[in-house]
Amino acid sequence: KRRLEGKVAIITGGASGIGAATAKLFLQHGAKVIIADIQDQLGISLSKSLAEHCPAAANNIHYTHCDVTSEPDVKSLVDFAVSKFGNLDIMYNNAGIVGDHERLPVQDSSTKDFKRIMDVNLLGAFLGAKHAARVMVPAKRGGVILFTTSMVTMVGGMATPAYGASKHAVVGIMRELCMELGEHGIRVNCIAPGTVATPMTMEQVKVDREVVEEFFKSKAVLKDTVVKEEDIAEAAVYLSSDEGKVVSGVNLVVDGGFSSV
Ligand code: NAD
Repeated sequence: KRRLEGKVAIITGGASGIGAATAKLFLQHGAKVIIADIQDQLGISLSKSLAEHCPAAANNIHYTHCDVTSEPDVKSLVDFAVSKFGNLDIMYNNAGIVGDHERLPVQDSSTKDFKRIMDVNLLGAFLGAKHAARVMVPAKRGGVILFTTSMVTMVGGMATPAYGASKHAVVGIMRELCMELGEHGIRVNCIAPGTVATPMTMEQVKVDREVVEEFFKSKAVLKDTVVKEEDIAEAAVYLSSDEGKVVSGVNLVVDGGFSSV
């Protein structure tokens, strides 16, 4: 069953990793998808390859440059979605960074890095939600706003204080907006992934996909479980589709049970 037939979706950070896998699955479920990112080459080649892979949906995928820390960029992105596809049903605020590649002790960490992480992960998520609501509320068609948080909202020891703080704060945005936008039929949820071996993770830990996945397998409660980009994409489809129509205000942990112990 195509669960997002005709829905218009924006995915920020959509050129790579979780965002790219979600763009592909949304497209397969019949959505019209705008991938937004700052990695233009990657975004353009991804949208081309998705169009080739899924010729029936070739007109339903589009790449747009958008730096989520820039309000004019985010405003234009949302306006572009509405002008290209007629409306906006799903805003997936997924863009994120981990910050300094070297995991520094807190006493050596920089204010600059802290602010950069907050700008992308927190301000970027806020701006995406703000401008989605700007068009969703008057359209009176309901809608879905999603954020990618992280299992760092459930357990410590997996990231830097700045990264952890940014993702906890996004849960705070989600809770407030779930209350505020609920009366307009807009559902607001987060997905909290376990470690997924995306370019972000690989850059951070500087080891191959196999090593990341072996580590994760050894910690997951579910036997031999590795969380893949596609597993997060499935959660995004659930939360965006009618199957999830009574779900709002959750931080859905998708981590093979890693954070439950
Ligand atoms: P990724 O690096 O593959 O993708 C992130 C994308 O965000 C990149 O394409 C990047 O260019 C884009 N981006 C960065 N700054 C941006 C900006 N200012 N404006 C627009 N786009 C920007 O990493 P990923 O693992 O797919 O990360 C996606 C989300 O998942 C992030 O929010 C991340 O924090 C979260 N997450 C990842 C993991 C993991 O283990 N990979 C775990 C939990 C949460």
